[in-house]
Amino acid sequence: MDAKLFKEAKRYIPGGVNSPVRSFKAVGSSPVFIKRAKGSKIYSEDNRRFIDYCMSWGALLLGHSNPQVIREVKKAVVRGTSYGAATKIEIEFAKAICRAVPSIERLRLVSSGTEAAMSAVRLARAYTKKNKIVKFKECYHGHSDSFLAGRSAGAPKSLEETVISLDYNNLGQVQDAFSRDNDIAGVIVEPIAANTGLILPEKGFLEGLRGITKQCGALLIFDEVITGFRFCFAGIQKVFKISPDLTCLGKIVGGGFPLAAFGGKKEIMEMLAPLGSVYQAGTLSGNPVAVSAGLQTLKMLKRNGFYEGLVRKSEGFYREMDNLIGKSRQPLRLNRYGSMFHFGFEDKKQFAIFFHLLLAKGVYLSPAGDEVCFLSAAHTNEDLKYTLKAIDYALGVIASEAKQSQKRDCFVADAPRNDKVVSKR
Ligand code: PMP
Repeated sequence: MDAKLFKEAKRYIPGGVNSPVRSFKAVGSSPVFIKRAKGSKIYSEDNRRFIDYCMSWGALLLGHSNPQVIREVKKAVVRGTSYGAATKIEIEFAKAICRAVPSIERLRLVSSGTEAAMSAVRLARAYTKKNKIVKFKECYHGHSDSFLAGRSAGAPKSLEETVISLDYNNLGQVQDAFSRDNDIAGVIVEPIAANTGLILPEKGFLEGLRGITKQCGALLIFDEVITGFRFCFAGIQKVFKISPDLTCLGKIVGGGFPLAAFGGKKEIMEMLAPLGSVYQAGTLSGNPVAVSAGLQTLKMLKRNGFYEGLVRKSEGFYREMDNLIGKSRQPLRLNRYGSMFHFGFEDKKQFAIFFHLLLAKGVYLSPAGDEVCFLSAAHTNEDLKYTLKAIDYALGVIASEAKQSQKRDCFVADAPRNDKVVSKR
């Protein structure tokens, strides 16, 4: 079924998908086509059920189709799907975020994380009257031209010089860049790098970025599209106690709808049109249906004990997984932070094998070795128990395969050499 749908999709949609990683190219197969989802589960067109650990790439902290979110969305849809005009609910939403994240004094809504990061960078350039942006190779900030210069055909060559790409956690490189160049408008960083596996900031790295940018008259931009509202009712900046000048939000704050945002200091944000000269706009920005989903999501996340419960559940799950990994003796590392985790295999091929063994058992991981997986409030203890069993099985298969191939290698190495090879020609 999936292969047939994929073939048809490819006749009309480039590569059959509307975002490359959905193609399953990274795991060497064709994608599962999803028909519906509820709670922790997704269901394929041919009615297979999967426990979902991709969760729309981290957008669904409450799980799929949360009944209270859906109720608000239904009400909003009936009132009207888009006005392209100011609404009261946008004030409520912006107020909730400004109150939750102290570094955000003003917030502008957009429709994707790409737009949020692209607009934040434009604002940084205008505010500082400088041109260049420092980013880190391990981080992703969407697909706008300046971030893709040198990495994608079609991104203007002229932009390549405007982005200085450095190594995450290497403060020395940042210091060097600033000492060589006084045209740097800002540093953009994922405070936890979650787009090439899961890399935590080393002690002093983010603090160092804050110090250098402040000293050199550049802005610090935290891209919290993944981390925002995932670990506490704010950005991870609250946990790390660092106040960036600008913050990008997306995924969770949109409650599963195309809604993202960027915000920060009043003085900087008020450079945006209509107050200032930095142009930024959107037909569907602040869409009332999306905002109602986002606002209801925020209300639910704010409830007492929400994050504590999720952390407790996640940590129990990781402990069990650590045990299974230890038992399997496979060179695999479980990277994790809060409700976000990543299977660090030595190579992508091994991840693909693991991925497919789990998929066959009804467990759906993010379909690429570089991508992180996400837990949600909707994952039940039964889901986790079942998943652990499936992981135990998959690691067992991989371990016995490894043993077999070791044996084969020994056999070949030990085989008596026969110099008189009979030619088959
Ligand atoms: N920033 C980060 C940190 C992201 O993880 C992503 C998407 N994975 C983006 C920006 C881009 O967001 P979107 O896909 O909504 O454009």
